[in-house]
Amino acid sequence: MQGGTGYAVRRTSRGPGRPKRRKNRQAVIAAFAVLLTVAVVLTAVAVIKGRGGDTVLTPEEKVRILSEAKVPDYVDVQILPEDCDSRRCVKLEDFNSVVIHYVANPGTTAQNNRDYYDNEGTEVNSHFVVGLEGEIIQCLPLDEKSSATTERNRDTISIEVCHPDETGEFTQASYDAVVKLTAWLCSLCDFDETNIIRHYDATGKMCPLYYVEHEDKWLELKSDVMEYMNS
Ligand SMILES: [Zn+2]
Repeated sequence: MQGGTGYAVRRTSRGPGRPKRRKNRQAVIAAFAVLLTVAVVLTAVAVIKGRGGDTVLTPEEKVRILSEAKVPDYVDVQILPEDCDSRRCVKLEDFNSVVIHYVANPGTTAQNNRDYYDNEGTEVNSHFVVGLEGEIIQCLPLDEKSSATTERNRDTISIEVCHPDETGEFTQASYDAVVKLTAWLCSLCDFDETNIIRHYDATGKMCPLYYVEHEDKWLELKSDVMEYMNS
């Protein structure tokens, strides 16, 4: 049982020591804050270094890498004419992501879609179209802005993918080609899976439909790209 007197005595005996303890506590809190700040800064530096190797590429360096890159032999290069309506002939400002799309026109081929970009009045295009048989057509120079991802056209490479039906699921041949092409693009600037996005991630559009509705398949695709890069 605790008596009132005992409490009063303890209070009195504690009294003189209080200001000092408060000072000590403030000093401990200040020291902790400094340590926490140092830890956060060191972690941030480690993360940045870890992601980009020892060197962090500037936007200009990344765009220059794209300008000088030689596309692999499996790419069928059919650059759109400079004067076609969909082509803007404007350089990328940066390169931060590879964006995956679906053409939303079931059964069409890569050639159909590439030729559609070349039609009078067409306002959309992409850097690459991947076809149902896994064929890959390049439609724009790598260092030029495409018209596929609205505000992210400024710093992305776009890949449109053909699909046999309304679900938007890629054929195995298309899927394998997307993995191979994306891995090559990522390797140019030492990208990892955080640099691979869906049109959906950039603007909220349900594209590529199947891989928005099946998050697990999207994660699998990105992990397959990383595995391909490391193989
Ligand atoms: Zn799209």
